[in-house]
Amino acid sequence: MRKGVVILGATGSIGRSALEVMAGLEAPPPFEALTAYRDVDRLVALAWKHRPRVAVIADPALGSALADALRGSGVEVAAGVDALADVAGDTGSDTVISAIVGAAGLLPTLAAVRAGKRVLIANKEPLVMAGGIVMAAARAAGAEILPVDSEHNAIFQCLPAGYCCGQPPEGVDRLILTASGGPFRTWSRAEMAQATPAQAVAHPNWDMGAKISVDSATMMNKGLEVIEAHWLFATPAEQIDIVVHPQSIVHSLVAYRDGSFLAQMGAPDMRIPIANALGHPDRLPSGAAPLDLVRAGTLHFEAADAERFPCLRLARAAIDGTDAAPTVLNAANEVAVEAFLAERLAFDAIAAVIEATLEGAGRLAVRDSADLDAVIGLDAWARSFASERIAGAEYTK
Ligand code: NDP
Repeated sequence: MRKGVVILGATGSIGRSALEVMAGLEAPPPFEALTAYRDVDRLVALAWKHRPRVAVIADPALGSALADALRGSGVEVAAGVDALADVAGDTGSDTVISAIVGAAGLLPTLAAVRAGKRVLIANKEPLVMAGGIVMAAARAAGAEILPVDSEHNAIFQCLPAGYCCGQPPEGVDRLILTASGGPFRTWSRAEMAQATPAQAVAHPNWDMGAKISVDSATMMNKGLEVIEAHWLFATPAEQIDIVVHPQSIVHSLVAYRDGSFLAQMGAPDMRIPIANALGHPDRLPSGAAPLDLVRAGTLHFEAADAERFPCLRLARAAIDGTDAAPTVLNAANEVAVEAFLAERLAFDAIAAVIEATLEGAGRLAVRDSADLDAVIGLDAWARSFASERIAGAEYTK
């Protein structure tokens, strides 16, 4: 970290953990930019505390409120979605932490990648919908992609020293993603059909934003992670396994050709992968409590159940080497999760909406994903198709 750091999504769960890690360093890097969507109060508090060069609010209607609250702080203010990509791509920083939730992070993440920066990616949705485009842009610009998602960071740590994301790893037989199983790991389908948003966001091990918490409950999160791993590690989906590990102590594994399995372990605390990616290849303190192996006791592993968690099947089926079906899957999932959180959709209808949207895309032969405009067009088509389905009585609670 020679220049400043940009945190896209600074007010979120990952953004705040990243700020905590950096605040705990002996010589914290300067902050170039902190961004938020609508949470002006939290952004203002963070900006007064950490004094970035600029604070960005994505909702343009909130720009003047931000400017008023930061008067006298010396922090510049910008508003609107274009400002996110501007700060991600400008020359004031060499490190960008991509921690916006959802497809909204695509353009700013891509701006950072195209500027050839070190990009720490927590925001998995851009890799799901445009992994081919993002990784090709990274190769072209010489950007360094470092995974923050705990499973992908674990795999990255288990790959040979000097490994760079986007290359097929040497000597590897399989990548094994662990899954906690989420809050409904032991629930029947009938029980899940009645699940409320409050139950779905109550994750047993991790404290995360609402969207990823619901993704964990449907296990779509793990499906998205298979797609994410496929692009990050240039590995065919058939070589990426999922194993349920309710304790979330082993964060993922790499199985080598010679029969060796390397695993990364640690407390379920996102400050650990954030510190790893920030410092790479050096090891920084994360502030996380060390893992107590004796207290952890027995580690348990079981098969993932794609019958009870159909999102696992849908995500795998979407992987076909293009960005088309994953874009449709991701967009329909974002719309369905939002509707579920707003109590406009039953929990078990999330998968049904995604499946219907994928089928609709298939019927229309919507497959073009060759460039960014095509991906953005597909994303918009899938959102409108899924929204119409949800508005229909069929899936309403
Ligand atoms: P949160 O919901 O806690 O935070 C999301 C952040 O993105 C906030 O800063 C929010 O701003 C901002 N944001 C939301 N919508 C927009 C938008 N339309 N435009 C610009 N900014 C926006 O999410 P998490 O921190 O939990 O997750 C962030 C990403 O990291 C997700 O992709 C998730 O899958 C991934 N991830 C998260 C993990 C975790 O432990 N939380 C673990 C692994 C991956 P505001 O506060 O103003 O709404």
